[in-house]
Amino acid sequence: MLDANVLESYRMAGSIAAKIRGEVEKIVKEGAPLIKICEVLEKKIIKENGKLAFPLNISVNDAAAHYTSPPHDKSTVPPRALVKVDIGVHVGGFIADTALTVSVGKVGLELVKASESALEKVLKSIKHGVKSSHVGEIVEKTIKEFGFKPISNLTGHLLDKYTLHAGKSIPNVKTRIGFTLKEGEVYAIEPFATTGAGIVEDSKYSYIYRMPSQKTSTPFLSHIAHEFKTLPFAARWLVSKFPKAQELIKRFASTGTIQAYPVLIEKERGIVSQAEHTLIVKKNGCEVTSA
Ligand code: MN
Ligand code: MN
Repeated sequence: MLDANVLESYRMAGSIAAKIRGEVEKIVKEGAPLIKICEVLEKKIIKENGKLAFPLNISVNDAAAHYTSPPHDKSTVPPRALVKVDIGVHVGGFIADTALTVSVGKVGLELVKASESALEKVLKSIKHGVKSSHVGEIVEKTIKEFGFKPISNLTGHLLDKYTLHAGKSIPNVKTRIGFTLKEGEVYAIEPFATTGAGIVEDSKYSYIYRMPSQKTSTPFLSHIAHEFKTLPFAARWLVSKFPKAQELIKRFASTGTIQAYPVLIEKERGIVSQAEHTLIVKKNGCEVTSA
């Protein structure tokens, strides 16, 4: 069971994230600069009294996840594209993680439906005692019925205070082994569907970072530790205070002090859709915080 204050924080983070979801379709349009979308939506989270659990992810077409605009990004939304917008809000470290896919120029509508429908079915079936392998089976079956492939090496995840991936993964395919979901646990569930192979790989680009251990040996690291704790951050958030942020990040990444998250690309360059919500497992069902 969750403590009342913890529950309240999860709900507050969820309701802010839900509000931001409602803004996405209005702003993701052909020609819109990606950096503007990131900045506008991140500002809205702050304005609603939330904090950023991670940089706004805006991943286009065959990029499945982990793209955020670097400083001075010139990229724009293409005329025909599937755009995944992944939103992370936290209140006192308690996180809502939610994503939706916008079809620009009417491409990939069935692909969008496939991941949404998989998520919907999962939300209806989750309760105390459900097995993670069963959730994976639902996702896989639903996406395959649409004629697409689920992405097998991307997963949902247990959430904990200031921790996005708290050690348990919810698969997007049926697995032989697994674990049981328990009342009071908080999960992000995120089916990905693709026209490609169903596998993502690291690209050579990284724009999202994290400092796993709280080092404070330089003003730069101390600032990161204080502002973001162990949560992911973007260079974009640091350049006004630290004009050499990108160089510093590169240097600390080479020694392992900072961890870089490469943009994840579909192996066969298939286009990718994603749907994600955060939920609290209950005795006889679940409470979706981010809807
Ligand atoms: Mn997410
Ligand atoms: Mn997630």
